[in-house]
Amino acid sequence: MSNQRKCHECGKWTEVRETHCVFCDATLDPLLRAREEKIEREKKIREERLLRETRFEKYLRTLQESEKSYHQITFQVLNVVFTIYMGILSFFIWLIALISG
Ligand SMILES: [Zn+2]
Repeated sequence: MSNQRKCHECGKWTEVRETHCVFCDATLDPLLRAREEKIEREKKIREERLLRETRFEKYLRTLQESEKSYHQITFQVLNVVFTIYMGILSFFIWLIALISG
């Protein structure tokens, strides 16, 4: 029994040198299993993010992933505009904090 590993899925014993269960094909190697679970988790997070995204976010993603140069230029311009907008917003927040305090 010492050179065998118990399957977490079906409960049967498989040789330690096997990375997958010979009965149900579940991953037995702990490192491999951790890696597969991590990939699965990241995939789920990505899918949830895609479901939650707004129309504007979808539009931005389309621009970013597009091959067309004018799409990429539009994305860059929007990026710069957003950075400037956040800069101005931060300045006013700082100004309000300065005046009131
Ligand atoms: Zn199994």
